[in-house]
Amino acid sequence: MMSTNAVVAAKPQIKVPFLDLKAQYAGLRAALAPAILQCFDNAFYIEGPAVKQFEVDFAQYCEASECVALDSGTAALQLTLLALDIGRGDEVIVPTNTFIASATAVAMTGATVVPVDSDEKTWLMDLNQVEDRITDRTKAVIAVHLYGQPVQMRELREMCTRKGLHLLEDAAQAHGARYQGRPVGSLAEVACFSFYPGKNLGAYGDGGAITTSNSTLAARVRRLSNHARVSKYEHGEVGWNYRMDEVQGVVLQHKLSKLDAWNARRRELAKQYRDRLQGTPIRMYEVPSECEAVYHLMAVLVDDPSALAKFLADEGIESGFHYPIPVHLQPAFKTLGYRAGDFPVAEAICSHSISLPLFPEMTGQQLATVSEAVLSFIRLNC
Ligand SMILES: *Cc1c(COP(=O)(O)O)cnc(C)c1O
Repeated sequence: MMSTNAVVAAKPQIKVPFLDLKAQYAGLRAALAPAILQCFDNAFYIEGPAVKQFEVDFAQYCEASECVALDSGTAALQLTLLALDIGRGDEVIVPTNTFIASATAVAMTGATVVPVDSDEKTWLMDLNQVEDRITDRTKAVIAVHLYGQPVQMRELREMCTRKGLHLLEDAAQAHGARYQGRPVGSLAEVACFSFYPGKNLGAYGDGGAITTSNSTLAARVRRLSNHARVSKYEHGEVGWNYRMDEVQGVVLQHKLSKLDAWNARRRELAKQYRDRLQGTPIRMYEVPSECEAVYHLMAVLVDDPSALAKFLADEGIESGFHYPIPVHLQPAFKTLGYRAGDFPVAEAICSHSISLPLFPEMTGQQLATVSEAVLSFIRLNC
């Protein structure tokens, strides 16, 4: 006889997590754990040698002359804008399809967020609409390399130069991605990175950085991140504490040496998803030939993403939404006065987007499990 327990719908065991940081750490532990402990043995907690070395290595990786390590990607964006003297009365153009921090960093300086719609193919900022959003108060444009897919920067760069605007890269999801052969982090005046644990290059806590080849800008961001100290006891302006912890420097310096291999594996997995889901109603973002994406997210579009998420969850497969609410419809920005329908392409992407699991440690078997489940869902629902 069946026990009563057997009929209680048990939560399915997770067969495919959205990402697997435990599996990643298992592979790094032998080298990383002693290095982290050494930080404690040496009592290096902040402003130690590992963060300094990581700054040198990451600048070189990005083909930029400088890197300033910080404690989050949001801090990187905010300090960059402050260092460019952007604030109250100024406007900054931001894609509405992005993680909220691309926009909140602007708002935190007192400047006004000016959202722009998405491109139908790449789902990134629609480059043809940026110029229409420029006013005499516009000071900067933030190009977000969302999903790990670089924005096509050439025309944007030319336009910003012509109009006298600052151009920032939000490269929080795109460490190692390339455009026309050059890495993100070197494609504009300055780039902002996040090392949130789930990013392609993730710390063991929060972390961020800027890369730039403008040494004056780098020095100002560095100063602002450390109480705007001009000497130990003298503070040249109002700064804050946004420094990176030494432990994160150790972790990131070590993980940087693995990043290219991890990104290559992400691309391989993404290709398998594309092959397996091709010819179905599932839609995927197009990567232009001059772009080399690093697939931070395998976002796809489907009629009813919530139904697919539930179907996958029942199969023991985790998924996510990146991002269901565009910036202009966020309660946080309701005072900007935008309404549903204002940026139709982005709104359609946001309401149909679901992100499938994709992480370097994912096995071919796990990818097959997810793809099969998605195909079953389509057979039943589309
Ligand atoms: C993660 C992320 C940020 C913010 O980074 P934090 O380190 O979490 O502050 C900014 N922009 C984008 C596009 C991101 O994905």
